Amino acid sequence: MDLKLSNLDRPFLLAGPCSAETEEQVLEIARDLKKSKAVAMRAGIWKPRTKPGSFEGVGEEGLRWLKKAKEETGIPTATEVANPKHVELALKNDVDILWIGARTTVSPFNVQEIAEALKGIENPVLIKNPVNPDLALWMGAIERFKKQNIQNLGALHRGFSAYEKSKYRNIPEWQIPLDLKSEFPDLPLLLDPSHIAGNRQLIQPLCQTALDLNYDGFMIETHPKPDEAWSDAKQQITPEILNEIMANLNFKTNTSSNEEFGENLALMRDQISDIDYKILESLGKRMEIATKIGDFKRAENVSIFQPEHWKEILQEMLKKGSQHDLSSGFVKKFYKAIHQESIQHQQKE
Ligand code: PEP
Ligand code: MN
Repeated sequence: MDLKLSNLDRPFLLAGPCSAETEEQVLEIARDLKKSKAVAMRAGIWKPRTKPGSFEGVGEEGLRWLKKAKEETGIPTATEVANPKHVELALKNDVDILWIGARTTVSPFNVQEIAEALKGIENPVLIKNPVNPDLALWMGAIERFKKQNIQNLGALHRGFSAYEKSKYRNIPEWQIPLDLKSEFPDLPLLLDPSHIAGNRQLIQPLCQTALDLNYDGFMIETHPKPDEAWSDAKQQITPEILNEIMANLNFKTNTSSNEEFGENLALMRDQISDIDYKILESLGKRMEIATKIGDFKRAENVSIFQPEHWKEILQEMLKKGSQHDLSSGFVKKFYKAIHQESIQHQQKE
């Protein structure tokens, strides 16, 4: 199999346990995955755990089980590397795909060391987003690998930590991977729904969203007996469920050959563009007035930011927005952006 990410059929699937636990577990899951759509088997060998004392991975011994599983079934293997020693051991044991974990991507020193250890490698290297919602840090890590002439790269979206409670273990923040995709249009983008979800119920809907957003692949934690897993038990699924999820995904295409559909879509897109131009024109006019207000306030020595007035406007717009079926979150964001731009215009002399 050609393990060039750009050549794999979309969406491609990597699956396997959070952690390699025993030789039997690794061999059992490899045999099941070989019969599934998975193009490679993942298994964590060194586990970056939040607290010491939790299961921290079986270490080097597990690499021999991965190698054995590959020799027996032919399934390529994938594991996380967090330092140059891991890189050396993984490659020595014929691991095919390496991934950089979220807790490593946050550290430019670690990323640089790993990238240098992998210089020029042709194997796929997947770079998870950093734990914090920082697009630049994710991009920076990718650039460090590119600079070491590592071409077979992919980005792996596993969500972002947040202190507030949420239904997710890690908040998806879809806008961040989509912004990454606009910065690197040719870079394959994969979803790790397991670490976003934190529980197995959310895996299917997350995969569907990713598919609707044109993601290129998935990495999904899969275990022969999920409830007995030594790490991340709640979010792991059986190979049977994995196959069901893949079979139930609703695949959408970028185009349709139906002519009428194409014409109607083009018409509606034109209508939207017309409205968008009007919005921009109106915003331009609004800002011209803001500039005048700025001159006025300056002449009278009145401060530019008037919190009470701003509060009133926002309340009014939230009311109006809800009459037009616009969510309060959107109206707030939209008006904050307008208000900021308006202040800048008022500051213009
Ligand atoms: C993992 O994939 O097993 C893992 C530790 O994930 P993350 O780096 O996303 O926390
Ligand atoms: Mn895990």
